[in-house]
Amino acid sequence: MSASFEVIIGLEVHVELKTASKLFCGCSTTFGAAPNSQTCPVCLGMPGVLPVLNQEAIRMACLSALALHCQVRPVSKFDRKQYFYPDLPKAYQISQYDQPLAEFGWVSVRPAGGDVKKVGIRRIHVEEDAGKLNHLGQRLGDAVGSLVDLNRAGVPLIEIVSEPDLRSAEEARLYLTELRATLSYLDVSDLRMEEGSMRCDANVSLRPVGYAGSVEDLPRVEIKNVNSIRNVQRGIEYEIERQRELLVHGERIVKETRGFDDATGQTYSQRSKEEANDYRYFPEPDLPPLVLDVSWIEDLRRNLPELPDAIRQSLVARGIPSKDAEVLVLDREAYEYWNAARSLYADERTLVNWMLSDVLRVLNLRNESFSQASVGPRALVELLTLIDQGTLSGRMAKEVLEAMFATQKSAADIVKERGLSQITDVAAVGAVVESVLTSHPAVVADYLSGKEKALAYLVGQVMKATRGQAKPDLVNRLLIEGIARESNPTR
Ligand SMILES: [Zn+2]
Repeated sequence: MSASFEVIIGLEVHVELKTASKLFCGCSTTFGAAPNSQTCPVCLGMPGVLPVLNQEAIRMACLSALALHCQVRPVSKFDRKQYFYPDLPKAYQISQYDQPLAEFGWVSVRPAGGDVKKVGIRRIHVEEDAGKLNHLGQRLGDAVGSLVDLNRAGVPLIEIVSEPDLRSAEEARLYLTELRATLSYLDVSDLRMEEGSMRCDANVSLRPVGYAGSVEDLPRVEIKNVNSIRNVQRGIEYEIERQRELLVHGERIVKETRGFDDATGQTYSQRSKEEANDYRYFPEPDLPPLVLDVSWIEDLRRNLPELPDAIRQSLVARGIPSKDAEVLVLDREAYEYWNAARSLYADERTLVNWMLSDVLRVLNLRNESFSQASVGPRALVELLTLIDQGTLSGRMAKEVLEAMFATQKSAADIVKERGLSQITDVAAVGAVVESVLTSHPAVVADYLSGKEKALAYLVGQVMKATRGQAKPDLVNRLLIEGIARESNPTR
């Protein structure tokens, strides 16, 4: 039986806001503190306490919503989502149900070779995080016990719910990458998936071609809490194939929540999925509706920083190749490094070339990011200036760059210490060229008979004799002139 299916994916992304204190109490939100050291009667869910809303969390949430092209509602409200689990001492989570903070946004994704596609954002709501269970064992199934850490309970989150507009695992990857890049320019979250400050659940279903019903009615599998964008993509890829196999063999898809096993690349069944009415949402009686001043929202909108779409356009307009522009846009630190360096150096393309090849290579080796780079924008520009002045060849500069990273010294100091200055003196290089030509008559003959590669060999000999310090274009020119003279002495 041959059957074809269309893939339907929607993503729910939880982003922890990096406020100093929690959403409804004054406890610190610092990551990595001793378990349960950042708690109080409010976030521990003691009876009789009252939540007080953190204004900074709402500002960050609105900023995120506006950057993702959402409409922020002037009035939204908080609701209690009931569920019983040891990571939630109140036995309910304060969230937003039928009147979320923001709706109707979008994220643009750019599939390779395809058109830009707008993926809808259905809603963004504000809620408090739960605590964290640490299971004593390899997996939940074989755990011998669990410990709860409530430092995270009450940390502000936004949940960003996409429309089911994504059609492949690759589109899901692009969506998450763009979403993360956009939020990175707002300074509202650490966005570290491995630490849980950004988490993604993926809803995956397959629709038989010709299916006339609603997407919402398709049996949907939710892959929970995957710890990297790459693994979200892998989990979705696996899930698409698993569901396709089942459907092709006439079996039904069970609506459920599945985990993802990084080691095998497979998803595994965890539990059947709850419906919204299982949570018995009801309005939070301890918090008034959240009423936002429209002029305050407009003020936030006007003061949004430069965001990926605008940055892309301006980079390409400045002559940066779109592939390089994409790397800069998606890595805010790289973009800021480039921005700082370009204010000191006119040749922006050369700058981006050096950054994304040599600098990036050394950063990766040293496990540094652009913001922590031992060689900062100013030091890199000094190095490039030495190339422009003819002091260093490109090849020598690569060596100097590595030494700069290793020693934290300036390019000029390293050149001086190592006696690295490039030989640009025509007479000095000319003398070496003459001796190389005299001692390699066969290679010269090869070159004259049309073997272009023979010239590279001769260049190599001159560079060897000058310890790599002869100016390469000068060597080339003098070799060609020398050969011409020898082969045609009358001219
Ligand atoms: Zn607290």
